[in-house]
Amino acid sequence: MSIKKTIITVAPTGAWPKKENNPNIPMTPKEIAEDVYACWKAGAAICHLHMRDDEGNGTMDTAKFRETVNLIRAYEDCDIIINCTTSGDLNATDETRQAHLKELRPEMASYDCGSMNWMHSGLFINHPKFLEELGTTMQESGVKPEIEIFDAGMIYNSLYYLKKGFLKAPCHYQLVLGAAGGSTATIENLVYLKGLIPEGSTWGALGIGNGHVPIMLTTVAMGGHLRVGMEDNVYYAAGQLAESNTQLVTRAADIVRIAGNKVATPAEAREILGL
Ligand code: ZN
Repeated sequence: MSIKKTIITVAPTGAWPKKENNPNIPMTPKEIAEDVYACWKAGAAICHLHMRDDEGNGTMDTAKFRETVNLIRAYEDCDIIINCTTSGDLNATDETRQAHLKELRPEMASYDCGSMNWMHSGLFINHPKFLEELGTTMQESGVKPEIEIFDAGMIYNSLYYLKKGFLKAPCHYQLVLGAAGGSTATIENLVYLKGLIPEGSTWGALGIGNGHVPIMLTTVAMGGHLRVGMEDNVYYAAGQLAESNTQLVTRAADIVRIAGNKVATPAEAREILGL
């Protein structure tokens, strides 16, 4: 019997939480790069990056991405896979959501496969034409989509883009459970959504809030990959703020090992994802 490898992605910052939500969240390019390096040492194979402007709001500013990516790439021993967001700045245009991919050519980037009412912040718009353009940009720039799924309709959308050639199989899906306006973080929803993704795909899942640990345990048991970090959870446990992203990665790595799996290195993750 071969040992299963589980990929851990760290999402250190996200678009919304600020220092007042958790003082340990990295916000500047330097803070994010240092955090990513520490998380790589703790077992993260992928970093999913969001940028903040100088007021701490989500931004798609290519210069911020460039600075951060260059700082991470400057760690000579660190081979972590870089995954850039394409969302999280409600004032961004279709162009600014893709410009950093064309210039920096990260190995992965998020692809939010539908629109949603994000209850605390407004409309999360990913209109059909944008998703066609983004799929094309990713293929031309050699970027593998992390197809983020917030509800079942987004999986059906992905099947359409696969049929039309804007996405290429095998796809990698990220099931995001517990976002305000998306599927709730229950095991029933995880099992249901996982059952809808096309055969031959790779997938991971995350639970926001109370579902964080239960979804992580179930995902490992089901053979999926993990994503942790303060983008999705500023708390380590009820009433207990995370001390660092490393603390969240370390717990995920422990869970992987308790399940009898191996924490995938970035090289192993590249093989699993076909990068
Ligand atoms: Zn994100």
